Amino acid sequence: MRLYNTLTRQEESFAPLDGRTVRMYACGLTVYARGHIGNFRTFVSVDILRRTLKYFQGYDVVHVMNFTDVDDRTILESQKAGLPLREYTDQWIAAFREDAASLGLEPTEENPRATDESNLVAMCDMIAALEAKGHTYRSDGSVYFKISTLAEYGKLARLDHEGIKPGARIDTDKYEKEDARDFVLWKATKPEEPTWDFGVGPGRPGWHIECSAMARRLLGDTIDIHCGGVDLIFPHHENEIAQSEGATGKPFSRFWFHVEHLMMDDGEKMSKSLGNVFTVRDLLGHGFRASALRFMLISVHYRKQLRYSRASIEQADEALTRLMDFLARLDRVSGGTTSDDVLVRVKDAVDDFGRMLAADVNVPGAVGVMFDLVRALNAAIDAGQVGAPEVPAIREAFAHFDQVLGVMSMRRAEEAAPPVPVAEIEQAIDDRREARRRRDFAEADRIRKDLEARGILLEDSPTGTRWKRGT
Ligand code: AMP
Ligand code: ZN
Repeated sequence: MRLYNTLTRQEESFAPLDGRTVRMYACGLTVYARGHIGNFRTFVSVDILRRTLKYFQGYDVVHVMNFTDVDDRTILESQKAGLPLREYTDQWIAAFREDAASLGLEPTEENPRATDESNLVAMCDMIAALEAKGHTYRSDGSVYFKISTLAEYGKLARLDHEGIKPGARIDTDKYEKEDARDFVLWKATKPEEPTWDFGVGPGRPGWHIECSAMARRLLGDTIDIHCGGVDLIFPHHENEIAQSEGATGKPFSRFWFHVEHLMMDDGEKMSKSLGNVFTVRDLLGHGFRASALRFMLISVHYRKQLRYSRASIEQADEALTRLMDFLARLDRVSGGTTSDDVLVRVKDAVDDFGRMLAADVNVPGAVGVMFDLVRALNAAIDAGQVGAPEVPAIREAFAHFDQVLGVMSMRRAEEAAPPVPVAEIEQAIDDRREARRRRDFAEADRIRKDLEARGILLEDSPTGTRWKRGT
């Protein structure tokens, strides 16, 4: 398989270091708010990479995705909310899990939280190793990484060393390339901030050390693939390389996989700080189906920007409907005509689909192969050239495509689920019973008609009210 590697700025042939198991790390959500669909463009793209490695390349995958539950923003927002940090971030982790499940993300093998003690200890051990090797200095109670001690600093972001100001340092987690500075590893804390002491003095971690330490603890010194959005190349990933390679003396990640941004219609990046965000929940609340959202998020190659619009989700929904209509049509194929041509066509499409994925995860190319097959098979069915004996092989091919795409199974589940959440139906039944009790029959009728319009029928019986799906 070929993968683009940001480190070398070229596509390279990929195989895991140990032959069978791919060890990959993806920077997860900073849990100070609900993730937006820009974040989920990155997470869905990483999910597609993971599924490609598993189901088309046949590797085992150990995939770590962390939660950044301590950094400048989480501390600030928890203080604003008046909640302890861990309690504040718990709610956003729960929200992430809900959205990730809606979008069909496969669970990752590990989901470490930065503030778990084992991770904080690993961070302090790494800082101690960096101190022992002369890569750090202390100032005002904080520990800094001295970038001039590492000749290769800047290799990922291709920094111009002329622009680096020796000796200047920076305490914030995010900063621009022009501000390449000595960065903070362990921060002195103010009295009201969370503080830990695991061997390098009281304080709290800088953002960058968290990922280096969690990746090393769970995956070892050298990992196969490190993933994130393009905004993480600098400073986050550059600093991760400095910390990990400074501490171990070994290459940190062999491949760097970066996903381009989801943009708004007006060309702005979707970002919480710009305030132009939609969450998965917002869009489901607007009546979009999660399957359409997932399909939209993978509709453009991961290394190209994707523009968000309602029309783009609607188009994805229509394309998915065409696909499902075709699959439903297979149910109606009868007769016993056997045509080798059809099976050869299906096998070629499966091979081409795999080739597209093996070419730097070319999902749009793979989806194109799949729709060409749909068109060809629709024409063959029209011409009476597909018989019932071929149908299982055709189904199997589409099931294989869906192991990576993950949209057809989602659409089936959506269609099987009631159009109104069960809790909402039950609440409406209770409200209606209450309205009848107070003899407000107009209100009771309104509730029944409202549910009916949304595809749920109520049936009254002496033992109570039952609901069923309308037709
Ligand atoms: P954060 O919570 O800011 O650490 O971001 C979580 C992940 O989402 C990171 O991999 C970011 O690079 C990624 N990300 C943030 N904004 C976008 C966007 N508009 N499009 C795609 N990925 C994004
Ligand atoms: Zn990270």
